[in-house]
Amino acid sequence: MTKKVAIIGAGAVGMTVATYLKRHTDYDVLVFSSDTHTAYSQCGMPFVLEGIISEFPDLIVRPPDTFIEMGIDLHLNTEVRHIDAKSQKVISDSGVFEYDHLVIATGSTPVIPPIPGIHLSGVFTLQTLSDGMDIKFNINDNSRVVVIGADGIGIEVAASLVRRGINTTLIGTLAQVLPLTLDPDMASFIEQHLISMGIRVMTCTSVDSVNGKQRVESVSAGGETLPTDVVIVTSGLKPLTSVARKAGYDIGTTGGIVTDEGLRVSMDGEFQDNVYSGGECAQVFDLITGSPVISRLGSAARRMARVIGGNLAGKDAVYPPTLSPGVVVAGHLVAGSVGITSHTAKVHDINIISGSSKGYSRAGYYPGAMPLFVKLLFSKKKLVGAQVVSSEGVKERIDALSLAIRMGAEVDDLLDWETSYSPPVAMVIDPVTFAADDAKNKMEGIA
Ligand SMILES: Cc1cc2nc3c(=O)[nH]c(=O)nc-3n(C[C@H](O)[C@H](O)[C@H](O)COP(=O)(O)OP(=O)(O)OC[C@H]3O[C@@H](n4cnc5c(N)ncnc54)[C@H](O)[C@@H]3O)c2cc1C
Repeated sequence: MTKKVAIIGAGAVGMTVATYLKRHTDYDVLVFSSDTHTAYSQCGMPFVLEGIISEFPDLIVRPPDTFIEMGIDLHLNTEVRHIDAKSQKVISDSGVFEYDHLVIATGSTPVIPPIPGIHLSGVFTLQTLSDGMDIKFNINDNSRVVVIGADGIGIEVAASLVRRGINTTLIGTLAQVLPLTLDPDMASFIEQHLISMGIRVMTCTSVDSVNGKQRVESVSAGGETLPTDVVIVTSGLKPLTSVARKAGYDIGTTGGIVTDEGLRVSMDGEFQDNVYSGGECAQVFDLITGSPVISRLGSAARRMARVIGGNLAGKDAVYPPTLSPGVVVAGHLVAGSVGITSHTAKVHDINIISGSSKGYSRAGYYPGAMPLFVKLLFSKKKLVGAQVVSSEGVKERIDALSLAIRMGAEVDDLLDWETSYSPPVAMVIDPVTFAADDAKNKMEGIA
């Protein structure tokens, strides 16, 4: 009899596994999702708020019908309430279904800070397509918006709103923006840029309360009362693991589902051959620190899905420890990072020598040349982290440096790095080389 794979979650991981299985195996595939929509780009949502992409449904990469035509039994608006691991059944809003293999791809849920008034009408999160539509419906060009949370999503949302001419305040509790991915010196370029765009950036600031009768009217923060029509909360995410936890699967220190290198989940410390997890609900390992982490990236989700699909298809696929390379687009600037930051190094007692440089994205004289900032972090000469901020050429450098870290590159390898050149696209010597030079000088006690 044909074996059944039940997939909980129809997001980046769930639908990629489902389509992979339909292309490469003859499994029966059932997918359950509590969401109304599937196969849309969460990553594109901030740019709909700006108006670059007209409507939220434009982010749907494939309509549900295409999955049904492929033979996937897709249950949208259907929450899985319970997994009976012993009898291999999922208990969902649309019935009880047996499975031979299970994939838990439930993603994460926004953390709502315990602020008085946070549940007033007019306060939103941005996780699903429906969230995006709600926000769009509730804002107009005269709205005053407060974004709580100064990490990637908060920054992209704030930058998108202000570019639409909306009065926007960005509030973060820490002393810098992008605290998870950038060192303070690199983050300051982004913060200055956000301010120059017209965003009021309030770092080191906690929101004391969200005020209003039924609907938000103001936000109290930093000793001020900010008249506010809409609040968007982007202050963190936590893995959505309640169903997995209740079923008895192990949950790790990050709050994510424990997985092995093949993304199999464990129960009482024993990895199960027929149950997998990936994406924002799964705990994986960081390549530099060796510690468990959650990789909150669409790119990571897709790669994990291919590993799960491959293993279900009988391969011996491995998800190696991650470096989580990421880019955030803040108006005209792009902030990229890979590997660890100085803060993470400190937390893990890793001694770091860093090198920095300021160059240009094109030859300095060439029209459109933009400043390009690079910071490289080395531990015992080995590259362990890289950060790049500029208007162009960020993703390419971060991706190259991601490979360099994975290949174990040392400072001398970066000094030997041969780069291509033409004035409209590069400096004759890449700014990465200057940052490596700076680090090498520090290592040799010259600078
Ligand atoms: C606004 C925004 C911008 C982003 N920008 C970027 C970016 O630029 N680059 C990048 O790399 N990443 C970005 N990301 C992150 C990326 O989108 C996610 O990492 C990725 O989508 C996670 O995939 P996932 O499958 O783990 O979770 P999701 O795609 O969130 O899917 C989880 C699924 O599980 C379902 N579910 C949960 N519990 C149940 C249950 N009990 N029963 C049934 N269904 C359930 C949900 O309904 C959903 O369908 C962004 C995310 C957001 C929100």
